[in-house]
Amino acid sequence: MRYVSTRGGVDPITFSQAVIMGLATDGGLLLPETFPQIGQEELRRWAGMPFPELAVEVMHPYMGDDISREQLSTLVERSYGGFLHPEVTPLVRVGEQYVLELFHGPTAAFKDVALQFLGNLFELLLERSGGHLNILGATSGDTGSAAIYGVRGQRRIDIFILHPHNRVSPIQERQMTTVLDDNVHNIAIEGTFDDGQRIVKALFNDLEFKEEYRLGAVNSINWARILAQVVYYFYAWSRVSGGDTSRKLTFSVPTGNFGDIFAGYVAMRMGLPVARLVLATNRNDILSRFVNTGVYQARAVHHTISPSMDIQVSSNFERYLYYLMDQDAERVRGLMEQMGRDGRMSISAKQQESVAALFHAEAVGEEKTLEQIATTYREFGYILDPHSAVGVRAAADFPGAVCLATAHPAKFGDAVKRAIGCEAPPPPSLQGLMEKATRCEILAADSAVIKNFIQSKLSGRHEQH
Ligand SMILES: *Cc1c(COP(=O)(O)O)cnc(C)c1O
Repeated sequence: MRYVSTRGGVDPITFSQAVIMGLATDGGLLLPETFPQIGQEELRRWAGMPFPELAVEVMHPYMGDDISREQLSTLVERSYGGFLHPEVTPLVRVGEQYVLELFHGPTAAFKDVALQFLGNLFELLLERSGGHLNILGATSGDTGSAAIYGVRGQRRIDIFILHPHNRVSPIQERQMTTVLDDNVHNIAIEGTFDDGQRIVKALFNDLEFKEEYRLGAVNSINWARILAQVVYYFYAWSRVSGGDTSRKLTFSVPTGNFGDIFAGYVAMRMGLPVARLVLATNRNDILSRFVNTGVYQARAVHHTISPSMDIQVSSNFERYLYYLMDQDAERVRGLMEQMGRDGRMSISAKQQESVAALFHAEAVGEEKTLEQIATTYREFGYILDPHSAVGVRAAADFPGAVCLATAHPAKFGDAVKRAIGCEAPPPPSLQGLMEKATRCEILAADSAVIKNFIQSKLSGRHEQH
């Protein structure tokens, strides 16, 4: 299996090269040249498999000769062995719908599913090449902790995560700063999340620095993250259908960067029987506007009670656009350039029709989100977090839909309390956080200061190479 860029400027590369490259060098996103096709026979055979076995079946065709089935099997065991539920991503019946619980990992949000895997995959690839990688990222809360838990304790990786000082929730802050492994470096910047992103961008654009220190990213543009997320679509389908291939399912996905729902699209392209994909956004509705009007246009970001979906431009959207444009990289590049220039682009009416035939898109406001948390609790005794509630609400007209639950409700206690008057009991991973020791550097929101800090932390080790 080879990988190409959505913008056509990368000669086909292997799976390992795609994972290490992250963002394509021409500014596009990497995708497999083809989708492995899963026949009905295979789908039926997969139906009873436990999650780890299924993960190997789904992911291995994408890896070519790079990674053997045995190696992949070890990676999967290592990545999901620490999940708090034996099924890894259990499916729960809630009234007429199903809830796919993706939050049983170490940071109680769905990003663990991908980042636990990516961390172990990085380690394997670095063991082979003998290198060292320094991961740098800015977080508004959730991604930072999942990335830290993905690589903590690894010898060949250091991770530097910037978060805005005193502007993430106390739980989110503690989830990051209580990880005391030597390779984990938390930096609280005296500024906003946007300042953090600006600094990270500036350091990645400092090509000399980037090369010398082998800076890497773990944001949702990495293909391996998408791939790890494809698995649970197959898992959910097998649990609902019992292997009956005539059973098409609708999935509802709380969406921000379009990574999770794109994984559902990939599953469908591989042959999973999918009826519709419900694209659920909060009031940051660039994607639902796109599906319903064919116009892609960014507006100001609103802060909501589902903060992990507060985005303006979706980094993974370009992957879907590539297929919508019949894999014509020239047209994708044109549209992205137009987006960069005008802050807006649009597709034809016919294309919009085909988008709307697959995706049902809905923007769910705060009131409706809170209402959904309350209703689901009252009727079924089940507590949704605000992100998951957006998805359940958007799927209201789709009985039998599988709604992805992307965070544990205890992680967003304030919103849950507003909706039902009490908080959800925390899972063991969130207990005792406030009493643990922490380590964090508070620094000015200045790229030169951050660069100095990274250099000083790595100087000892750096000289050894
Ligand atoms: C990141 C995140 C999302 C959005 O997922 P995308 O892949 O960015 O669309 C939804 N819910 C939670 C809790 C998240 O952390």
